[in-house]
Amino acid sequence: MARFIPKGLIMDEYINLVHKLMEPAGKMEEKLNGFTYREEQLRFANAVAEAFRDENFLAAEAGTGVGKTYAYLLPSLIWAKQNQEKIVISTKTKALQQQIVDRDLPELEKVVGYKLKYAEAKGRDNYLCWNKYQTILGGRRRLELGETDFIEAILSWAESTRSGDRKELPLNQELMKHWAIVAADRNNCQREMCKYRDKCFRLKMIKNMSAANLIVTNHALLLSDAVVDNSILPEFHHLIIDEAHTFVKESFDRLAHRFTLQETSNLLQILYTKDRRSKKGYLFHLRSTYPNLGPFLDEIVPLVENAIKLTNKLFNSISNGLKYRDDFNFSHILSPGERELAWFADTLDIYRQDWNPAMDLLSAKLRELIEELEGEPEGADLQGISSAMQEINDIAFTIMAEEIHCDSNITWLEYVKGKVMAICSSEVDSSNLLDRQLYQNLKTLIMVSATLAIEESFDNFIARSGLQSYAREGRLVTILEESPFDYQKQACMYVVRDMPDPASGTFNREVNSVLANIFANQGGRTMVLFTSRKHLQDSASELRPYCEERGLKLLVQHEDGEFGTLMEEFVARDNSILMGVETFWEGIDLKGEVLKCLVIVKLPFRSPSDPYCSAWDRYYKLQSKNSFQYFMLPDAAIRFKQGVGRLIRSETDRGAVVVLDTRLINRKYGDVFKNSIPIKNLISLTRPELGLHLEEWR
Ligand code: SF4
Repeated sequence: MARFIPKGLIMDEYINLVHKLMEPAGKMEEKLNGFTYREEQLRFANAVAEAFRDENFLAAEAGTGVGKTYAYLLPSLIWAKQNQEKIVISTKTKALQQQIVDRDLPELEKVVGYKLKYAEAKGRDNYLCWNKYQTILGGRRRLELGETDFIEAILSWAESTRSGDRKELPLNQELMKHWAIVAADRNNCQREMCKYRDKCFRLKMIKNMSAANLIVTNHALLLSDAVVDNSILPEFHHLIIDEAHTFVKESFDRLAHRFTLQETSNLLQILYTKDRRSKKGYLFHLRSTYPNLGPFLDEIVPLVENAIKLTNKLFNSISNGLKYRDDFNFSHILSPGERELAWFADTLDIYRQDWNPAMDLLSAKLRELIEELEGEPEGADLQGISSAMQEINDIAFTIMAEEIHCDSNITWLEYVKGKVMAICSSEVDSSNLLDRQLYQNLKTLIMVSATLAIEESFDNFIARSGLQSYAREGRLVTILEESPFDYQKQACMYVVRDMPDPASGTFNREVNSVLANIFANQGGRTMVLFTSRKHLQDSASELRPYCEERGLKLLVQHEDGEFGTLMEEFVARDNSILMGVETFWEGIDLKGEVLKCLVIVKLPFRSPSDPYCSAWDRYYKLQSKNSFQYFMLPDAAIRFKQGVGRLIRSETDRGAVVVLDTRLINRKYGDVFKNSIPIKNLISLTRPELGLHLEEWR
């Protein structure tokens, strides 16, 4: 007969075990090379364990160096084992997802002394599609230049891999750029009709998850699964969201609907396309394989050509109605007034009267063709294309017939080189959806990041994540563990007070002049963070000759290679200067002597034309609240904190941050930025003084 153990006793044993393993001279120190006990880490692990025990929600900020990943993984491993319950861990970046699966979990298994089943869930394009691969091997798809080399290079891997995950392929970028020809993708997946379902790596990944105790995934997959289709992750009630400062933005991006010119055209061209010299596409292939289908195909081919023409006509109607000369990629938020203009009405007419009926007719004919090909592999291929076409049709309907007219949504147009390439729409407030589809199903939710709090308060994060009701009920606990690093000794921030205001016409010129002096002074080991891609490009083109003359290696995002290549070069050369935007504010972890000087050109306020920014602006205006105070400022403060956090990554790092934006010291709101960062040594100085001070940090 089973022995009755009071619940509280088991629970306390659980917390005690976490402590025992983590405390000084515990198993963590014994089993893990280089592990040092930190009280901040133990307190955080304790809070995580309590959240599991009490079925609570926890919002946790753990500064750099606290060791947050071990602090939530260890209690998770023990909880999953003791209770046989699934725990899902979600990260923003692939790098962290990889680190957890490849390094942290195997290490912690040594500490707890048992093995757990864990699985990795990634987007479908990470996996080899066995059907596409077999189509190529069977000669049913003609290979272009370079693709043959790629297929030869993956042959032995493809035949022996158990995961089909591209991460196992040690190929260079030149070869990997052809990965898409074998990658699983929505448009070409035959779904239920695929004859290789037993061999399908993506389906295997989904199956592995049902047996796993821990599932490591990313925000994109978690969100689209929880909120859109529930087809990948099994049922779970415990969720850890790492890099949680990005979760709200990621929700906005993932829950948005996108109707794109490229995706629609590509799909139609998979069916049929012709140029002056040749005809290509699936229907063309069918004609030679099934001559008896000739009359059928004669009917469908013009329908595809018409659909391609109308897709272009639809997108051109907007590009011509709302012209931009700008060469850069940007978004335009559709204003209520623009919905009254003639081009808008014309575009909707094209959608309703031409595009939508043409796509419906084509879909109906494809269904008839699929019936004709029943039992043939081509029928299954066409079924995949037809399903993908239906998805595009549904999304286009949602945007063009419903959301574009709706005040609770924002709609925006994505421009590339002056042409509209996508029409997108998103709810202004997605928190109800997140609550309904995600939070309400959870017993435990742990949201953790090095940057969640603003001036030590979590209020803004809680409000924007849609967690207020849990906070009101007392079910949401917060914890802030500061970095154990000695920032007083390790770092200093200089604000250059004689810079013009960033709004001034001379600002960019003066930035280049100060940067040139900093580069000459530091001789390398410097990173510059910009807030605009155009500013980055202009600055880089002016400073490149200057750097070349002085033997400095300038590495510029989007110009000098992929992220990984730039990092490798930056680490390898003492004389390198790295300049970047966007991901560089948070995606870089350079320990030791590699980075000595970090320059922040402007406070990272988002542009009002950013759809995410526009959505929050509308949201707060509808509540008669000041969107600068509730969104722009806290959002920029968190990004500033992330950017500053690039400098000191270990207790032996030393370095200086130089801020060229005087709003940090001249505006009242500058205090919010200053009070949110761990560096408290802040010195305001002039340009001539800067060089002398920087000498100390070289
Ligand atoms: S089910 Fe889809 S992804 Fe899997 S092998 Fe078949 S076609 Fe490829």
